Amino acid sequence: MSDSYDVIVIGSGAGGGTLANAVARAGKRVLLLERGKKSPEVSLPHDERAMLIDKQPYDDRPIDVNDTDARLYMGGVLGGSTSLYGAALMRPSDDDFHPGQHYADRLEKSIHDWPIGYDDLATYYDRAEQLYHVSGQTSDNFGPLNHPSQQYPHQPIPLKPINERLVNGNESAGLKPFVLPLGIDFNICLQCDACPGYICPNGARISAGQVVEKAAAETGSIEVWTNVEVQKLERQGESITGVRVLDRESGDQQVVTAKRYVLSAGAIGSPAILLKSGCDHPLIGRNYMMHLSPIVVGLYLKRTGAESTFVKQIGFADHYFGTDDYPHKLGLVQSLPVPGPLMIGKSAPQWLPKRAIETLRKRMLPLAGIVEDLPNPENRVSVKEDGQIALSHRYSDYDFERGKVLTHLMVDILKRGGAAHCLTKSFPSTEHVAHQCGTLRFGTDRQHAVADKNGRLFDHPEVFVADGSLFPTSLGVGPALTIMANALRIADTVIDEI
Ligand SMILES: Cc1cc2nc3c(=O)[nH]c(=O)nc-3n(C[C@H](O)[C@H](O)[C@H](O)COP(=O)(O)OP(=O)(O)OC[C@H]3O[C@@H](n4cnc5c(N)ncnc54)[C@H](O)[C@@H]3O)c2cc1C
Repeated sequence: MSDSYDVIVIGSGAGGGTLANAVARAGKRVLLLERGKKSPEVSLPHDERAMLIDKQPYDDRPIDVNDTDARLYMGGVLGGSTSLYGAALMRPSDDDFHPGQHYADRLEKSIHDWPIGYDDLATYYDRAEQLYHVSGQTSDNFGPLNHPSQQYPHQPIPLKPINERLVNGNESAGLKPFVLPLGIDFNICLQCDACPGYICPNGARISAGQVVEKAAAETGSIEVWTNVEVQKLERQGESITGVRVLDRESGDQQVVTAKRYVLSAGAIGSPAILLKSGCDHPLIGRNYMMHLSPIVVGLYLKRTGAESTFVKQIGFADHYFGTDDYPHKLGLVQSLPVPGPLMIGKSAPQWLPKRAIETLRKRMLPLAGIVEDLPNPENRVSVKEDGQIALSHRYSDYDFERGKVLTHLMVDILKRGGAAHCLTKSFPSTEHVAHQCGTLRFGTDRQHAVADKNGRLFDHPEVFVADGSLFPTSLGVGPALTIMANALRIADTVIDEI
């Protein structure tokens, strides 16, 4: 059978969209299959109910999470989660690629080192930062984290007064806050308070969907099918012969073929496709991770301004590898926007009158921590007999312990920045799976990994993985930039082969 395309990419998020762009720019014919619709079809900018309560732009499948059905906060439109993300695009530290240096006793030996190191990705980080229009301050001190050897492609906006206070208060105590590198075009950004979680009303926050559409327009080499669900990979023995696609509107199914296939349906979606295809590598779906993200909300006596403007500007890596008293890896601390009234109502421990919520919103400044939750094979994605995706996940005591320590440090940070009181939460909710990763880990041999160092499945050499599923460990920073950089690296292998 002649192949209609050089490459079929499944999923258009940070991994798939970025890779599709690179492969098309190299002159190869790409078919991109995306389960969600094009975002403008569902876009209701700044409508908190539509976006975050009804979850219109999020994946509409009920997932069985620890035996209860839930709609998860994972991107379900063109661009995947990058259509909704915070765009904090941080490079990790060198040590993030050698987790054995920090958890030797807690991790199996085979994942003490990732199959690639930071140096293998350095130039791809540069390219990803260009592609996603990252603004940052190269002169900032990022502590153990890497930053570009040259300049960030774009300049950040000046700090908002409440963040200046946060920076000054903490610098006086010897900390080194930095301006958070963000994939946002501040020439057109509206600097609104509704950023992560919402579709950006004017495309200032660059998504993988935009990257794909630009590459499609400039090369004519990408065909994008939206609102189609990949049901499974067609197989003849171990050989993959095509992709079975369901048109979600008409209900029609067809099989499409290519020389190579790239799986990037996210760390929940990708293993589910392989399991539905009857692939039986024992690690498929195992070791699901998503970070433990403690939230601390500073309450101020005066207005912070965060209820009406963009405040996601600051990062702290001072406690990345712990403190003198607690020398354990704790990860990054970064600004968060103030939640909308409905989300405050949803997450508050008791009912709050509308006026109280509005008053609270005006006096808040939140921070989030990014604790690297460790892999556990029992935390996993599986597929039930009726085809429903199931997720089993529990944090370990060690994850919670580090989350608790980081929470105390975040309280100190906010108090130094002027907060009179702080509210704490150990993680947002079980529906928040933003940083999902780890379910098709890459490594050096089949016994310990599903894919090789180039993302190719050991059992099915025509298939590559290019999303967060590949991560053997979850890093102490947000995953998006590393997924993008790694997708560009994997794209080079795919291009060479074709
Ligand atoms: C609200 C929010 C805020 C975030 N903020 C940040 C941040 O500030 N910094 C950061 O680093 N990370 C952030 N993230 C995480 C980041 O967006 C993800 O890590 C990243 O997008 C994951 O990339 P991916 O390619 O693995 O999956 P995704 O980007 O989720 O893409 C997967 C795509 O596959 C599609 N798909 C799934 N199943 C199928 C199927 N069967 N057939 C066809 N298509 C399918 C999905 O619809 C989706 O479009 C955030 C995420 C969210 C949701």
